[in-house]
Amino acid sequence: MNNRPDIINGVRKAMEFYRELGFEYLPVKMDAFSDVLSTADVSLQRDSSVMDVGPDIGYGKTLVGLKEDIGECQRCKLSKGRKNIVFGEGNPDADLMFIGEGPGRDEDIQARPFVGDAGKLLANLIVKLGMKREEVYIANIVKCRPPHNRNPEGDEISKCRTYLERQIDIIQPKVIVCLGKVSANAVLEVDTAISKLRGNFFDYHDIPVMSTFHPAYLLRNPKDKWLTWEDMQKVIEKLK
Ligand code: URA
Repeated sequence: MNNRPDIINGVRKAMEFYRELGFEYLPVKMDAFSDVLSTADVSLQRDSSVMDVGPDIGYGKTLVGLKEDIGECQRCKLSKGRKNIVFGEGNPDADLMFIGEGPGRDEDIQARPFVGDAGKLLANLIVKLGMKREEVYIANIVKCRPPHNRNPEGDEISKCRTYLERQIDIIQPKVIVCLGKVSANAVLEVDTAISKLRGNFFDYHDIPVMSTFHPAYLLRNPKDKWLTWEDMQKVIEKLK
């Protein structure tokens, strides 16, 4: 992308994407962008406390570009039964990224991750960590709902993995939290019980990964919430 209409188009697409995610304004470095913005039909406000997109949005390396690449993906059989692809949402510049297993019924309908009961528990956890849901990024291992909420199968995980890898590569979070065994095993490429993984950091491409119980498990086993809380304390320490 090296000419002016392409840049303006790229910026416009980025704005539309962030608006879809629920951002009402997108602070940018106005000085660096002023040339482009003077001809673009977008209005922006400055507020460096929310985030700073910076001047060099390389379209191919943005979440917008990735979403466009995914398109109406038919790479695996989950595409047959889905209503919507659940791409993921949140701050593209997040320090903290949560990765779940795959969309459930509510997520499939709303095209947003973790919006059902498990999502409410996750949202509470994020607030208890002193953060807002919009500050973190939330994604899943597979982007389409497995039928009857079964676990995603190996071929589905490996077909979708490239999308998650690109999301992580774009966001570059400081810490990843894997929610549940399916997520932890897919990200870390192991086959290990969550009880053995949780509580310790492992690496994904030099990014520390904390695995913890899936919120849906915690809804069924609330007595284990304190273990997740312990894991999250380590995450907070790591983010400091
Ligand atoms: N469970 C998940 O793993 N992901 C969601 O998005 C919702 C429920």
